[in-house]
Amino acid sequence: MNEERLRRRIGIYGGTFDPVHHGHLGVAEAVSNAFALDRIFFVPAYTPPHKRKRMISSPFHRMAMLALATADSPKMFISTVELEAPSRPYTIETLGRLQTELQPARLFFVMGADSFGDVTSWREYEAILSEYDVIVVTRPGCRGHDAHGGAQNCEEAVGALAPQLRRRIVDLRGGAYPSDEDLKSSRIYLTDYVSIDVSATGIREAVEQGRSIDGLVPTPVAAYVEKYRLYQKS
Ligand code: ATP
Repeated sequence: MNEERLRRRIGIYGGTFDPVHHGHLGVAEAVSNAFALDRIFFVPAYTPPHKRKRMISSPFHRMAMLALATADSPKMFISTVELEAPSRPYTIETLGRLQTELQPARLFFVMGADSFGDVTSWREYEAILSEYDVIVVTRPGCRGHDAHGGAQNCEEAVGALAPQLRRRIVDLRGGAYPSDEDLKSSRIYLTDYVSIDVSATGIREAVEQGRSIDGLVPTPVAAYVEKYRLYQKS
């Protein structure tokens, strides 16, 4: 067995998770299977800059809901690296910290198509896209959801990348799994394994309007939202 095969593969899935829902869990499950990940870490963000316009539930609530949602999944973990950072970290810093902590693991950074749409505005995005494996998670047809005004189309986002980054792309859309050849070195994988049409925004709106969120989040998460009266108007 070569050394590469002995390195643990770890997924890093950042987001606000306010609340975590079946879309997130479906993504985590699907990428874990496709990339034979040993573990996947949900990394709740403190307050991502593009979301400061609205009230975000406290890190404790978001963390508690993640814990409830992942308690029974042996491969799903949570990292508090961003919540505990001395100042709000950039993704490149978070990945660096996790790489040091999890050495010699191979990190697969999971990124939504909406984020990928504006990745060129991220600090040191070339380093993120070239030093790590990046799994771009899109809905079928490569449409990201437009909640944050990110580029709607992967093709547009891909077109904005320099040729040396574009050459790293492996297009797995259509449900393909990466081959051993694809996985020989770190790449940017475009995937569309999951088509669960649910967003945290939709869930918060449903709660505010008194509609049920059963089926959109795991049962204990729905109970938690109700118990702590999250997302309700005052
Ligand atoms: P919000 O509606 O508050 O923006 P969200 O549902 O998009 O939240 P985030 O915490 O922002 O949730 O999600 C983290 C990542 O998961 C994002 O990059 C997002 O693109 C991705 N994601 C969220 N929902 C889905 C889904 N249903 N299918 C695939 N990816 C998703």
